[in-house]
Amino acid sequence: MDQPYAYRRRELVEPDWRRLPGWRDVTAEEWESAQWQRAHCVKNVKQLRDVFGDLLDESFYADVERDQAERATMSILLPPQMVNTMVPGGVPTVEAMYADPVRRYMLPVFSDRDPVWPSHPHASRDSLHEAEMWAVEGLTHRYPTKVLAELLPTCPQYCGHCTRMDLVGNSTPTIDKHKFTLKPVDRLDAMVDYLRRSPGVRDVVVSGGDVANMPWARLESFVSRLLEIDNVRDIRLATKALMGLPQHWLQDDVRTGMERLATAARSRGVNIAIHTHVNSAQSVTPLVAKATRAMLDTGIRDVRNQGVLLRGVNDTQQDLLDLCFALQDEASILPYYFYMCDMIPGSEHWRLAVHEAQALQHAIMGYLPGFATPRMICDVPYVGKRWVDQLESYDRTRGVSYWTKNYRTSVEREDEEALTRRYPYYDPISTLPVEGQMWWRTNDAGDQVAAQRNAAASRSAAEALTGS
Ligand code: SF4
Repeated sequence: MDQPYAYRRRELVEPDWRRLPGWRDVTAEEWESAQWQRAHCVKNVKQLRDVFGDLLDESFYADVERDQAERATMSILLPPQMVNTMVPGGVPTVEAMYADPVRRYMLPVFSDRDPVWPSHPHASRDSLHEAEMWAVEGLTHRYPTKVLAELLPTCPQYCGHCTRMDLVGNSTPTIDKHKFTLKPVDRLDAMVDYLRRSPGVRDVVVSGGDVANMPWARLESFVSRLLEIDNVRDIRLATKALMGLPQHWLQDDVRTGMERLATAARSRGVNIAIHTHVNSAQSVTPLVAKATRAMLDTGIRDVRNQGVLLRGVNDTQQDLLDLCFALQDEASILPYYFYMCDMIPGSEHWRLAVHEAQALQHAIMGYLPGFATPRMICDVPYVGKRWVDQLESYDRTRGVSYWTKNYRTSVEREDEEALTRRYPYYDPISTLPVEGQMWWRTNDAGDQVAAQRNAAASRSAAEALTGS
């Protein structure tokens, strides 16, 4: 009897970059150089045209340009390694580029966006309220025992759906990015100082942005200082560049530096792991596997993947299992989490409904070893990560799920109802039945939300003035 998914081992392949007109003469030595990759990133439509030339037509370029002007929350930044994984099996055509899963989230086009509800009425910049929970600038203390250290606001690649679009990357015509105010050295000192004073914190996610953009000496010094804090037992380094720019992690100074950190961590009984972000099987190439093995050879504990569930990218059983097996079998990367795409502006065409994520969780059970079966996660504002089946109740007509939690975030220390309140999360309106869509239209949700936000902003301003 046929199974819904048929497992076959698939050998990884590095797509031939010479099929793209702009890189016809690029040598293997250049391709494998991190400096060459960084110097030849695609940052705008002109550079995109230099790479693809006449393979794509003016309407495609115009679609990218219009998106940047009217919708994009992230500017374009694509290392050649990532561009080369778009339409990997042949010479790209316009149709193939439109349909390509990597293109869909790394090179957004206007025509992909939801024409009616490009943003959910409850979407917001910093949709997880991380900045509200900063213990010191850039250090989010949301969970009782773990913190997120945002070391820097840049990455070697910019993803269209970036959760930290509020802060990460360059401003776009529609989004003026917030900026850190402290100098980098002072911000990092303040983080270490806070962690030294916080014996209840045992787990530090060192992120950004992407730690691959931090000069190695500075990153090593920061992690070394974390290793000296007795209660820090887990350190996770977040880098999508392991996939987007594996050449970075293959550099000699980075490998020897990581080896020093891994040795120090082992002698103190601390786990250092790398967390990366791969959303599609075609992104897993031999160079990605080589960089991952190089990192594992330094003696770090693990390399894990935290992907994002995105419509048109990885929203089927086949897509997800192909990706998980490419990661687990061919690149030694543990498939760990798939997050639902967060409720940032412009993300409705990428987001799935909670029930769709539940169905995907069901669809992938039983194929992978239990330890490598990823959990589908909903990151509920003011709650945190929840497995998608952990909701408390669900109004499928209006697309509102309700969630509860068992700890206080740092902004709720005095909030007596924090542990009994139900917290909402919203499905994309275009996925709702007609009745639900009509409800959102006729209830003029945008105005209601704006009114609620204005009332909350006035309350906090009044509290700040009275010092309460
Ligand atoms: S790598 Fe991560 S932080 Fe950087 S743009 Fe992508 S999602 Fe955002």
